[in-house]
Amino acid sequence: MTTDYSQLARDLLLDLLGRGLTQRRLSEGSGVSMTTITSILAGHTATARTYARLRAFSQESAVTPGRGGAGRWSSERRPRKSKGGPTKVGMMVRTLVMVKPDGVKRNLVGACLAAFEGEGLGIADLKLLTLSPERARELYRVHRNEPFFDSLVAYMSSGPVVAAVLEGPDAVRRAREVMGATDPAEAAPGTLRALYGESIQRNTVHGSDGEEAVEHEVGVIFGPR
Ligand code: UDP
Ligand code: MG
Repeated sequence: MTTDYSQLARDLLLDLLGRGLTQRRLSEGSGVSMTTITSILAGHTATARTYARLRAFSQESAVTPGRGGAGRWSSERRPRKSKGGPTKVGMMVRTLVMVKPDGVKRNLVGACLAAFEGEGLGIADLKLLTLSPERARELYRVHRNEPFFDSLVAYMSSGPVVAAVLEGPDAVRRAREVMGATDPAEAAPGTLRALYGESIQRNTVHGSDGEEAVEHEVGVIFGPR
């Protein structure tokens, strides 16, 4: 009987990702390329050698099943306690993201959510809605004195958006990393805004930029909780 390395590799990958490791970290740690990891997850074959590398990495790493207790995160990825209490952006475990009207119109909801999920950020809440101009104004109130405010509000209320609360270690920073810079022309290759953004305004995705913003934006979209 031959061993199904593809299935073994896929199970191992899913287990590691489920424990909060990102695909990038997995790739760096195991020496298996991101492309190979993605293709195994999509159902393509894995060689015995690839499986051996992933297994060696899983055994070395603190996220190996049975080590580090039942916690979801390895000690390396667990949000760190700091002197200032749980207020630092780097420790946030929750953020709000949105697929903006240009993204929903172009059927990019799945691609955007998949990118966040692929980084190990889980969906804790999800909603399709059309923002009224009043709600858009409230959402973006920090920008009320910017010259682009009125046109931003008009654009954001021009069609449905998909809003999600994402959870995971360092969620605010990591979600913004997946999104890329505000201006798609300046966004790093492979980020959502570089891939899909149409302009600095129609940049496909939104992500909160800190703890206060998360509280405010989750309240505006999902109501008080
Ligand atoms: N925006 C715009 N013109 C600008 C800068 C920003 O229309 O010159 C829009 C854009 O949609 C952006 C949003 O306003 O995503 C909020 O701007 P912010 O500076 O907070 O950028 P973000 O946090 O979204 O990267
Ligand atoms: Mg912002």
